Amino acid sequence: MKILEPLLFELSVDGRRGYTLPKLDIPESDPADLLPATYIRKELKLPSISEIDCVRHFTRLSRLNYCVDVGFYPLGSCTMKYNPKINEDMARLPGFANLHPYQSEGTVQGALALMHFLEHAICEITGMDACTLQPAAGAHGELTGLMIIKAYHDRKRNKTKTKILIPDAGHGTNPASAALCGYQVVSLHTDARGGVDLNDLRAHLAPDVAGLMLTNPNTLGLFDENIEEIARLVHSVDGLLYYDGANLNAIMGWTRPGDMGFDVVHVNLHKTFSTPHGGGGPGSGPVGVKKHLAEFLPSPKVTFDGKKFKIVRKCKGSIGPVRSFLGSFGVLVRAWTYIVSLGGAGLKDVSSHAVLNANYMMRRLQKRYALPYDRHCKHEFVLSGKPFAEKGVKTLDIAKRLLDEGFHAPTIYFPLIVEEAIMIEPTETESKRTMDEFIEVMLRIADEAVNTPEKLKAAPIKTPVGRLDEATAARKPDLNYFKGRGSPPGNASV
Ligand SMILES: *Cc1c(COP(=O)(O)O)cnc(C)c1O
Repeated sequence: MKILEPLLFELSVDGRRGYTLPKLDIPESDPADLLPATYIRKELKLPSISEIDCVRHFTRLSRLNYCVDVGFYPLGSCTMKYNPKINEDMARLPGFANLHPYQSEGTVQGALALMHFLEHAICEITGMDACTLQPAAGAHGELTGLMIIKAYHDRKRNKTKTKILIPDAGHGTNPASAALCGYQVVSLHTDARGGVDLNDLRAHLAPDVAGLMLTNPNTLGLFDENIEEIARLVHSVDGLLYYDGANLNAIMGWTRPGDMGFDVVHVNLHKTFSTPHGGGGPGSGPVGVKKHLAEFLPSPKVTFDGKKFKIVRKCKGSIGPVRSFLGSFGVLVRAWTYIVSLGGAGLKDVSSHAVLNANYMMRRLQKRYALPYDRHCKHEFVLSGKPFAEKGVKTLDIAKRLLDEGFHAPTIYFPLIVEEAIMIEPTETESKRTMDEFIEVMLRIADEAVNTPEKLKAAPIKTPVGRLDEATAARKPDLNYFKGRGSPPGNASV
């Protein structure tokens, strides 16, 4: 493995300093007077490095990262759109950024107002009646939504409800959340048009069905035309309909889960509502519900009596808190800024452009890549790299080759029902020029796959590290700084 950058310890030169402390103007104290001797280290082995070398080191490292602010990031299902910088300005306002969760209600009225209005906006966008902002991510929203579904059936003392139906195109978090909530997961087939196979759904409908989890448009980027019939069928056995709204990019202002018949929905603020994500930072997965489920929403809740905002901790029927305090507040500020800076008409435009961009790319790329479900798509589409199998080229090779061309790879090998899947989501924030550049490169790679497949097999060659054994890298990550580089000059645990 090739690493371009030296480690900070390797840059260390005895005597170099990156700081100068002011002259002591008080008597020097004995550390033992301040701390018990057992806590005092004899020496602290840190790198000795000048300020400029340190700045250059970390700035160089930061430039090894790929991010939305550097280039196109067509990672299907993840909605890696541009995140307007005004969101950051608002989240950094001292009145928001310096809040403490234990401040008294009277001193956080502005923050509570923002949460109250954001809840309303999410209800309006999704067609729901009430909402919680607590869940910390999409998967956490799913678990919260399922706990609400469980509370609903428990309230009715319906002990037969043991199963959750999930189409085989579903996101991997869906079955995981259902299992975590104690449900048995039943997988449904996808039909030839890419929607839920109604016959399979009918075959599995029974009194033991607690609900169905669905993404619409689904992970193939296709809108399920039978959604009203699906809702009718699931409700006919007193099952509830859960909408995985991690990506709302295709539907905002055009249609709403609530109007399609869904009872519960989660949305990912860190996808559709433009909080930077992908590095594992804080997310937010608010959950909206219809009236008949509102009492089960997590506590505490933010309420407004027309004059004052309050945090109500004791809420009858509630499933209780699902995380500390009230949610990932900085993410909420970004989402609210995004929503009010675009307005209703702007959000509707976002969806039109997201869908237009995806269809434009799909139709051009379809010329060289297989398109298993040939219908107009919504915000994303799924190609297959299978035509290149005879040359020994796999989708993974195509994805790696893209890295050498300066693009982030699309999502690959998901959804599972498409062989050699390549899942592309351009988002609304990309210009035609950027999309054309990407398309040209993809078409060129298709030529290479036929004529010079070895070039794809060798990729990437321009990235800081070459091709990794991804399974081993994930299962046995080698995060030891010093392995193979001699002993550290400092303390190995630093
Ligand atoms: C991203 C995503 C999720 C999970 O969201 P996290 O915030 O990563 O937990 C669930 N469903 C779909 C369709 C997604 O795209």
